[in-house]
Amino acid sequence: MPELPEVETTKRGVEPYLKNQTISFITTRNKNLRIPFNSGLKNKIIKSKIKNISRRAKYITLDFANGYSVVIHLGMTGNLRVSKQTNFLKHDHIIFGLSSKNHLIFNDVRRFGLIQIYKTNEGFYLLNNNGPDPFEKKATKDYLYKKIKNSSASIKSILLNHTIISGIGNIYASEILFKTKISPLKEGKDITENQCNEILKASRLILKKAIKSGGTTLNDYFNAEAKPGYFKIQLNVYDRGGQRCKSCKSKIIRIVQSNRSTFFCNKCQKT
Ligand SMILES: [Zn+2]
Repeated sequence: MPELPEVETTKRGVEPYLKNQTISFITTRNKNLRIPFNSGLKNKIIKSKIKNISRRAKYITLDFANGYSVVIHLGMTGNLRVSKQTNFLKHDHIIFGLSSKNHLIFNDVRRFGLIQIYKTNEGFYLLNNNGPDPFEKKATKDYLYKKIKNSSASIKSILLNHTIISGIGNIYASEILFKTKISPLKEGKDITENQCNEILKASRLILKKAIKSGGTTLNDYFNAEAKPGYFKIQLNVYDRGGQRCKSCKSKIIRIVQSNRSTFFCNKCQKT
């Protein structure tokens, strides 16, 4: 599943081909994504220029000069590519024709992704309730501390709660807590301000590392034949249940929290 680093790398990969381009047409081959593509609004963005491309959490947004935007989520299996070719592939669901004669193509085997057109100033409703991702200015230690200081939820489930902080997937949540030496079982109200700071710092560090590794393995979004793969970051705890901790050699433990697997070292993560 594409996580924040894959989404950021996708955004960086397609951005140079989209900036200042005008949409000449939109072809919908299958609109039945997680939320059906609202192709009824497509005339709102045809002949309009793409002014800005950005990412928040796992959403990529294209802002148009005329006050409309398009939001793209890759879901479980979605990917974007840019191509001049018109021989489209199976699962190429939505195609944006650009003034450069290139196409921006959304391919998604399982169709859990989404593309929606909306008015920029109204925002996209699924993003409007999201907390900041760790790279946003709003994601400060004061913000996080205030949000969780009365919470009896575990810090692991807090990190997956996108209304508090968005863009941290299950793998990264375990890795971030290992890095900060915080037990995933610790409740929000027992996390100190300083630990909030450590969590945010570790989140940025780990996600940045993955973005960097993706930037080196995946650089071609133009005429890419193969679908982008997912990044292999070096995992310290995730999916290492029963194996030795890389730091203290104890056995890594797997537990289930809110129906999701958590991996941690109960010797290193005591604080
Ligand atoms: Zn350990």
